[in-house]
Amino acid sequence: MENSIKGALSRPVLVLNRLWQPLHATTAKRAITLLCLGHAKVVQTEGEGKYMVHDFSSWVEYSADRKGDERIHTVSLEFSVPDIVVLDLYDALPVREVKFSRQTVFHRDSHTCQYCAKRFPEKDLNLDHVLPKDKGGKTSWENIVTSCIKCNTRKANKLPREANMFPINEPKRPRWKPLFGVDESEVLDEVWKDFIKT
Ligand SMILES: [Zn+2]
Repeated sequence: MENSIKGALSRPVLVLNRLWQPLHATTAKRAITLLCLGHAKVVQTEGEGKYMVHDFSSWVEYSADRKGDERIHTVSLEFSVPDIVVLDLYDALPVREVKFSRQTVFHRDSHTCQYCAKRFPEKDLNLDHVLPKDKGGKTSWENIVTSCIKCNTRKANKLPREANMFPINEPKRPRWKPLFGVDESEVLDEVWKDFIKT
């Protein structure tokens, strides 16, 4: 039970800006928080390019008998996890930029060590400064690569040519796309396709 709620809360939800353009995918937990705060509404697709928009209370009411959906149960409420929410905030302008983080760097590099070219699970990966920090290297898309722990230790604070270790791909800022960082196999929602042209 606990696990299924956790699973439902971490499901990806597509976030649209006020112009109904895709911003990014967030977790159901965050989407429901936005919904409860009145900062977002649920977009329900009706098919044939028709949509209904629900605030939190109308969503709870509407989804009361959608038992096949992923459900959230609280002490007093039960409702479906939305697929899509649209922001209601005036200042929610699209920031079409991939946020720099451990996870997004790993994702950019396909969880592949940029020195030995092997794939690793996240727990066995580190971030490596190509130009070492103590030699003025920045923590940026252009200077950080995914590295396995072994290669990371071997390279230490040496320059690529001192260590004779060069990243297999030149590190760059990844091109923005709405689903960057989302495991696409998790995105089963046909309904998202109306909003995302990949
Ligand atoms: Zn490696």
